Amino acid sequence: MNTDYKDVFGAAGPLARALPGYAYRPEQAAMAAAVGHALANTEPLIVEAGTGTGKTFAYLVPALLSGRSVIISTGTRTLQDQLFRRDVPMLAKALGLPVKVALLKGRANYLCRHRLELTMQQPSLLGGERGLARLLARISRWAATTQAGDLAELTDLPEQSSVWPMITSTRENCLGQECPQFNRCHVIDARRGAQAAEIVVVNHHLLLADLALKDEGFGDLLPGAQAVILDEAHQVPDIAAQFFGQVWSVRQVQILTRDVTAELAAAVVRSDAIIGELSIVEARLDDLRARFPGGAGRYEWPGLPEAFLDVLPELETALGDLAKELDGLGAGAGIANCAKRAKSLAASLGALGSVPEESGLKWVEAAASGLSLHFTPFEIADRLRAYVEARRCAWVFTSATLAIGDDFAHFAARIGLPEARTLHIDSPFDYPTQARIYLPRNMPEPQHPSFAAKFIEACAPMLEASGGSAFILYTSYRGLADGVAALKARFPNPPFPVLVQGQAPREALLNQFRELGNAVLLATGSFWEGVDVKGEALSIVAIDKLPFASPDDPLLKARLEGIRRRGGNPFSEYQLPQAVLALKQGVGRLIRDFDDFGVIVLGDPRLKTKSYGKVFLKALPPSPVITEASAGAEFLVERLSRSRAARGAGTAGESDVPGAPIGTMPASATSVT
Ligand code: SF4
Repeated sequence: MNTDYKDVFGAAGPLARALPGYAYRPEQAAMAAAVGHALANTEPLIVEAGTGTGKTFAYLVPALLSGRSVIISTGTRTLQDQLFRRDVPMLAKALGLPVKVALLKGRANYLCRHRLELTMQQPSLLGGERGLARLLARISRWAATTQAGDLAELTDLPEQSSVWPMITSTRENCLGQECPQFNRCHVIDARRGAQAAEIVVVNHHLLLADLALKDEGFGDLLPGAQAVILDEAHQVPDIAAQFFGQVWSVRQVQILTRDVTAELAAAVVRSDAIIGELSIVEARLDDLRARFPGGAGRYEWPGLPEAFLDVLPELETALGDLAKELDGLGAGAGIANCAKRAKSLAASLGALGSVPEESGLKWVEAAASGLSLHFTPFEIADRLRAYVEARRCAWVFTSATLAIGDDFAHFAARIGLPEARTLHIDSPFDYPTQARIYLPRNMPEPQHPSFAAKFIEACAPMLEASGGSAFILYTSYRGLADGVAALKARFPNPPFPVLVQGQAPREALLNQFRELGNAVLLATGSFWEGVDVKGEALSIVAIDKLPFASPDDPLLKARLEGIRRRGGNPFSEYQLPQAVLALKQGVGRLIRDFDDFGVIVLGDPRLKTKSYGKVFLKALPPSPVITEASAGAEFLVERLSRSRAARGAGTAGESDVPGAPIGTMPASATSVT
């Protein structure tokens, strides 16, 4: 059936009839037509949809109309919840298409009844922690009443709590059909619900874990799907690299040793030989930690001391010996599962030690949760392509930042689909009218000691004109700290509230920012994307430097090395396009709606002094570039007074942008990033 998406999205269509405040956007209908074509022809498609396109509706409508079973994967939990709770039901109703929709999370989000029971039977495993015992008692009471077993229902369960591995399963430790709780299992229930649904909403971690048959995946999500739509797809290559590599962690071994003790107790078995092997494994873990040379951070393998590396084969032997003893016991499914895991942990440790250097980078991460050993392949494109080609379904990748100008080559190559059809949908916002890009004159080089102060000095006239209402975004923690000091020096008694990343959790800080209405937020990394502040509360987005990733990060090194080895140019093929996409993400925080306005301040002089500066400038929204602070300040004053006058005249909510549709789409279509 050929659907005319202009009719579906048009002023007389079902969406206009059913959704209050709906406005037709030709960009949205064009994207929907392309997605509908990809779905009907089982083809891959890559779409960059500028902010304001309303891309969630643009892929949900064809997905619903196709009548096919579709997996929708997102990068963030916020979007996942929005799709499941609001957008899909609202559109299904508007289109008159009853549809079964399921939200599926990774295993680690569901209670594992078997593991909770094991833990409750062995209070000694809690190490005498009274708080933990109380928490477990509370979880146990909740477990008796919960329907879905979704741990998000326990809203105050701390994310870092050591209780998580005691009450959730992994693919390795799940007993499957041999589990005594199989018939009441929440993980199995969630999976059945997903298999029976026409639309399944997941996140990229679960989707890629599933593809790669890794821990949190179920391994059977995809066979039934006829289309996979990945929103926030710019995150996919990095997440795929995690799942297509290997990870071995001290924590996995600790969980194993604790499970062995619990399973022995549950089976009422005492084995001195196994207790002996457990203590050898624990002693080798102690050696490993004691010989690790540094604090928290990422370390490349070749720089690690021999004394540390020497422990790895000893630990491999100890795990192998433990597996043999457990195997010999013949004491039920729980013990047999522990034997299998000990064998697999020994094998993966051995494999990590011997993996050929030319295929990827080995590195070690030290964190509060313990040491983990990693192998990251140099290239994941071929593997991703093989997975995509192995499944006959349509793959749609979309995001607001996938292309450099109209060029998708960088992203398409990273996901291994260089010949996929691509589509670039411009934002419907009127950037020439709504925003200015301010490139201050005479900025020092980014490494210069005066840079932080000069950058704040450049922002000051805008801050004074708007009375605050700014994001000042930094590319490093060092830059952030210098920026905070510089702002304090320039505004000893700031006429606006100042918020700094780290003062409170991210969401709390964002809520505070929205409520205050004129705050200045100084932040780094995590505020560059997935942040949506509409209206006057955000009138300035200032970015200190071009966001080139740190060359010291082992993961980045792995990618650059991979490109070098196949004769490519790491800067032009990877570092530059990645930095351009990151800058687009940061700049994209400013204009989120038709009546938003503001100034983008870019402090890095390399935009004008280096030849690659042009690549960045070309990728920015088509707003006039200004080099005088007074022009930016005047723009803000004028727009603020117009907006306040319009509000005073009781026309709030209507767009004052010539040519823009009156009214806006429902928040559901525009609040995504
Ligand atoms: S089947 Fe697996 S996830 Fe379910 S209760 Fe048993 S061990 Fe836990």
